[in-house]
Amino acid sequence: MNLKGKSIVRFGEIQDLVKSYYPDADLDLLRHAYIYSAQVHQGQSRRSGEPYLVHPVAVAGILAQMRLDEASVATGLLHDTVEDTLTTVDTLEQDFGKDIALLVDGVTKISKIEFQSKEERHAENFRKMILAMSRDIRVLLVKLADRLHNMRTLDHMPREARQRIARETMEIYAPLAARLGIYWMWTELEDLAFRHLEPERYELIKTSLEESIKLKEVHVNNILRIIQEKLGQYTIEAVTKGRSKEIYSINRKMLAQNLEFDQIHDVIAFRIILISVNECYAVLGLIHSLWRPVPGRFKDYIAMPKANGYQSLHTTVIGPEGARIEIQIRTHEMDLIAEEGIAAHWSYKEGKAVEAEDAKVVNWLRQMMEWQQDMDDPREFFENVRVDLYPDEVYVFTPKGEVKEFPKGATPLDFAYSIHTEVGHRCVGARVNGKMVPLKYHLLTGDSVEIVTSAHQKPSKDWLKYVKTGRARVKIRHYVLAEERERSVEIGRAGVDRELKKWRIELNRAEREGEILKIAKEFSFKTETDLYASIGYGRISPKVLITRLVPPQEREKAKAALTEEKPVQKQISKAKSGVRVQGLTDILVNFAKCCNPLPGDAIRGFITRGRGVTIHKQDCENLLATDSNRIVDVSWDDEQNLSRLVGLSIDAENRSGLLAAISGVFSSNDSDIVQANVKTQDELKAHGIFMVSVRNLEHLTRIMNALRNVKGVEKVERMGTV
Ligand code: MN
Repeated sequence: MNLKGKSIVRFGEIQDLVKSYYPDADLDLLRHAYIYSAQVHQGQSRRSGEPYLVHPVAVAGILAQMRLDEASVATGLLHDTVEDTLTTVDTLEQDFGKDIALLVDGVTKISKIEFQSKEERHAENFRKMILAMSRDIRVLLVKLADRLHNMRTLDHMPREARQRIARETMEIYAPLAARLGIYWMWTELEDLAFRHLEPERYELIKTSLEESIKLKEVHVNNILRIIQEKLGQYTIEAVTKGRSKEIYSINRKMLAQNLEFDQIHDVIAFRIILISVNECYAVLGLIHSLWRPVPGRFKDYIAMPKANGYQSLHTTVIGPEGARIEIQIRTHEMDLIAEEGIAAHWSYKEGKAVEAEDAKVVNWLRQMMEWQQDMDDPREFFENVRVDLYPDEVYVFTPKGEVKEFPKGATPLDFAYSIHTEVGHRCVGARVNGKMVPLKYHLLTGDSVEIVTSAHQKPSKDWLKYVKTGRARVKIRHYVLAEERERSVEIGRAGVDRELKKWRIELNRAEREGEILKIAKEFSFKTETDLYASIGYGRISPKVLITRLVPPQEREKAKAALTEEKPVQKQISKAKSGVRVQGLTDILVNFAKCCNPLPGDAIRGFITRGRGVTIHKQDCENLLATDSNRIVDVSWDDEQNLSRLVGLSIDAENRSGLLAAISGVFSSNDSDIVQANVKTQDELKAHGIFMVSVRNLEHLTRIMNALRNVKGVEKVERMGTV
């Protein structure tokens, strides 16, 4: 059945049509959907001036022509109610059930995607996104029917909109129809889009095609007659037809092979439709005995179906008057699939839904959607007709409206690193659909993602736990290692300096005179820095330098003197960090990002490899999970008066003057705001993240209490540094 260009305008026709292919259909449901749609769209009109209702009826009509189930047809009637009227998904669920509500919701969501990118390479991602969002394949079928009717009536739109919609159709929707194997819809969408995108070329090919068909009519009828006669001799029943290629597909061939219209010989293809597969091969033999086949032009898509399920035999022969003719031979079932694709499997046959176990359909869908995961039970896949077409991927938008693809479980960090390494390094979170989310947030298909950065941010090892992409992992690891090395070099050099001082050797001078480099080379290092790094990592003791820089006699003397003296009391360091680490001098201290302790918090230290001691809160989960042998007692040095950065998350009512009141609290408490991200979630709520300086826990507590007293503030929470 050729469905091209045939819009249904009356609901009665839809009813009759559905009844014809599915006598048991719930027609009350359809009537209800029709009346409902008519009511809510009342008073609305299309650009053509017609009542709006014409559109949903036409869309439902297309779905009925495709012989889809009643839920799909009802969805066609209701598909614009949520987007264009006051109707909600909840109302639809109450009135029409969950199934239809979900379908309409799915169509509405896809309609909200705006194809903004100007680059073709993004089109495939858009197609995938739409597929991923169409968890129920019927959603996509309804969306395609919607687009088809809009394309049929595109003339009424302003020029600019016409161009945009036509391009979107050419790049997104026509290929989707192709992928679903719905040939008639694919080619109709292409031809309609082509007409708007390149009107002159379209007209040129169209006119040439019509002339050519007129010229060849006698010729075509002659060939059909010869074929029918031959088949008649063998009492084979067949439907034969000659049909012209589509306008856009002729254009495609002309461009691809750089041909003029007159050089295209197969604008008309002949088709022989038979009852059994055996007959197909038998008829192929008859055709080849009738006319000489062109070598290399025979294709057996019955034995080797195309990925979209297409099956047919193709051959080209030298026909009467030496003209090449292309012939397709297939069964009725193959013909139906070739025209209607996946929809053929969704349609009702003899009043029954297609069996869920139809292995062929499952296989087909699998290949078509590039299904990547093994399925345990194909029936499960089909049971609800609900599928995750890309279970391992998510598709999200950049602020420019481009689509990026990530593995499932990817976070804002993966997104940030995909933009630029520096954006990744400085990422503190993201705004997803306008709301602030933490670094750990899992991106979802359809999210609009905008990365928030801060000059104070830098990567930490913990980030490796949050990322899914190789790129982000490599960049973070690289940064962390480089930073560790830098610190190790620092620690190593300080250690060497201390050791040398005991022998009254000046490190700077030793370096200048190349003595350190000489020792480094002895250890097969290229530079002094490499040697310091190794010492800093604890692989080499700084004492090895003494054995090479101080003569043995002197060392003996010193040893003797040392035993006479009283042991020196262990020093307690007063490191600049404001933390004392008992028993260890000048140790490098850093604060754990996970719990970000402040002076006043109960703390403990963890001895890292080459990065000094990391200070955690005493009850930090990460600390408790580590090797207890490496935990040391530490304490705050009260004489130090250093400020530390802490993050505060504030939820509040969205009122004017709020921000001023909050920053007033910080300044009156002598705390600096280093960074602030405030976002209003809607008219009522605001959320902010403030990085501020505080002296200690007591100071922080005072500030938090003051914030809680600000009018409208609902929640104040202390965060890590992230
Ligand atoms: Mn619509």
